[in-house]
Amino acid sequence: MASRSSPSRKARVLFKKILIANRGEIALRIIQACRELGVETVAVHSTADAESLHVTYADEDICIGPPAPTDSYLNINSVIAAAEITGAEAIHPGYGFLAENAHFAEILEECNLVWIGPRPETIRNMGDKARARRLAKEAGVPVLPGSSDPLPDAAAASELAAEIGYPVILKASAGGGGRGMRIVQEPADIERQYKTASREAERAFGDGSMYLEKYLVEPRHVEFQIFGDRQGRVVHLGERECSIQRRHQKLIEESPSVALDEKLREAMGDAAIKLAEAVSYENAGTVEFLLDRDRQFYFMEMNTRIQVEHPVTEMVLGIDLVKEQLRVAAGEPVSFRNGLRPRGHVIECRINAEDPRTFGPSPGPVTTLHLPGGPGVRVDTHAYQEYVVSPYYDSMVAKLIVRGANRTEAIERTLRALDFFVVEGIKTTVPLHKQILRDEAFRRGDFSTRFMEGFIARMNAAEAKS
Ligand code: ADP
Repeated sequence: MASRSSPSRKARVLFKKILIANRGEIALRIIQACRELGVETVAVHSTADAESLHVTYADEDICIGPPAPTDSYLNINSVIAAAEITGAEAIHPGYGFLAENAHFAEILEECNLVWIGPRPETIRNMGDKARARRLAKEAGVPVLPGSSDPLPDAAAASELAAEIGYPVILKASAGGGGRGMRIVQEPADIERQYKTASREAERAFGDGSMYLEKYLVEPRHVEFQIFGDRQGRVVHLGERECSIQRRHQKLIEESPSVALDEKLREAMGDAAIKLAEAVSYENAGTVEFLLDRDRQFYFMEMNTRIQVEHPVTEMVLGIDLVKEQLRVAAGEPVSFRNGLRPRGHVIECRINAEDPRTFGPSPGPVTTLHLPGGPGVRVDTHAYQEYVVSPYYDSMVAKLIVRGANRTEAIERTLRALDFFVVEGIKTTVPLHKQILRDEAFRRGDFSTRFMEGFIARMNAAEAKS
């Protein structure tokens, strides 16, 4: 039998050319995978991104509109026209932008273009978070006490909250990126919070429908990478611990999680697979759980795309998730074994163009850039010296991913890499990451999703004193 990488098999099975409907580091990451597979790439870009690396490195490029995402990266007609003009056979959406747009995935099918991701129906089911909760429950996956359907009104929210007990969290059914959520501590606040949150969700997502669930006070966020194929096989590829978050946005991810032992890992991995099988999941996906202090875990949501933090899994298992996405979208079976063993410990720091103290955005030209290297260090970035960080897009400028033989070495190595990470001209969160990695509680692995709240308060108090 021909080996997986032999040219004849590649030419027979894989795409000749794909279009990447994204920008920044993830567009570059997809280009890297394509280059290794011998697949040609088409970059689309806005006028603000004409000088971007994904444009430089793609085989072809097409400008699809002005800087505002709605006029360019979110403009379905322009993206499809670009694919048709260039003769691309498939589209990789990356994360963000159109990645979880079921309507877009459906149109591609009608246009005879392959969507590198799960089926549109799966995206739709999981994108409605209230429905996803119900499907998880039906599949026998533990969910927190809460609504099985979107709430009809404020009174229904109040009634259900009284039944399950406070605190509760109100969430937008169409929510994402940590937005549209409200923690409610007591009955007096529920109706008012419901109304404001629903109005906000209506404005942000064009859908004001809300659901609620029990709010866990100090949980961990532990998610499982899964992969499914068209043949119906689903595997899990271990966990990522993502509890270090600010305003529900992840800052640091790592694998393995210090909170899991083999038994719990297996139970959570099995639950992730059960849900994925129930929705006949295809391609890469992530099942997110909350893990309570008493080691009970609950399904939170499923992300139907490649995640920002996918390199953590890639490095700790020594695999390539993006190449696998292309192969599986072309009809090949998943090549990974279930529950692969982690090799050492991996930590990822999201480096944002932000003031590390106020978290205010810091766009502008990068005047000096020096990236760290050396053993165990990977940097995924679209930045280069003289690159201008645009105010139009996400503030993440780089991901630093570091592997060590164990967690202690991974922490020391990450600190060393952060010391060698030089960015001038803009402010970045590099100094913040150094402080977190030196924090005693972080080093002990003793934290929950509330870690940053306490950490920022401690930082501010220390500053006020000095
Ligand atoms: P989004 O899709 O907007 O990222 P998620 O449902 O994934 O929203 O939740 C994001 C974060 O919010 C979680 O990682 C966790 O920190 C917090 N969170 C969500 N639901 C709960 C809950 N029921 N109890 C405690 N924290 C929660």
